[in-house]
Amino acid sequence: MILGDYHTHTVFSHGKDEIIDNVVAAKNAGLKQVAISDHGLGHIAFGVRRKEIAEMRRQIDNAQEQHPEIKVMLGIEANLRSFDGSIDMRPEEDGYFDVILAGYHKFIWAKNVKEAFTYVIGSMWRNKFGYSKKYLQKYTDAYVKAIKSGRIDVITHLNYGVKTDVKQVAQAAKDYGVILELNGKRISMTDEEVMEVVNVGPKLIVNSDAHSADRVGDFSVPMGLVERLGIDKKLIVNWDDVPKFKNRKK
Ligand SMILES: [Zn+2]
Ligand SMILES: [Zn+2]
Repeated sequence: MILGDYHTHTVFSHGKDEIIDNVVAAKNAGLKQVAISDHGLGHIAFGVRRKEIAEMRRQIDNAQEQHPEIKVMLGIEANLRSFDGSIDMRPEEDGYFDVILAGYHKFIWAKNVKEAFTYVIGSMWRNKFGYSKKYLQKYTDAYVKAIKSGRIDVITHLNYGVKTDVKQVAQAAKDYGVILELNGKRISMTDEEVMEVVNVGPKLIVNSDAHSADRVGDFSVPMGLVERLGIDKKLIVNWDDVPKFKNRKK
């Protein structure tokens, strides 16, 4: 079974419930580990504020003390915010987090004004009217550069909001030991794309992406996909096991 949920939101971004509620829900779901991973600092409406990080850590420590039978981690779902593959926090801030996830989201502060148009608004335009080869490669390169940066543990919901050549992303993930997520809310790849990823063979992780405590530990969407496509569970780092994330100093 899946032993940990590493992508759950709380009131620190736009989740419904408190950190402690997610922890209790994870414990009740029989999980051994849970991470609180709210939206990154560059999310326009509901990203974590820098000044809130210390308070989140305090609540995590508290929850950990109350519930020693489950390991509680502080994560972040950082935003990929540029064609250069950068994320919306400074490298010296990485050490605040036990796990760093990163994904593409629409409502973010792009790296600069130009990229607000070419990268963010451009993706919405292209989702409607199609991707040129050049831009498909530019978005693919953004993911590959982010993976090669060595800062990220998990790429969330690949191809949500923006298209990439998933084979290239999967190859980079495999080469650099970054884990690709099968998201609990939606799979944004076609079955063919999922199988392209699987055939390359990077590590995968199954997460709920819960925005309320009652969805923590709900893996029905990604596990339904795993069963339907016959994906080898040995690729899934949190199946009957717990993953190893990068070592960051606190
Ligand atoms: Zn997300
Ligand atoms: Zn999320």
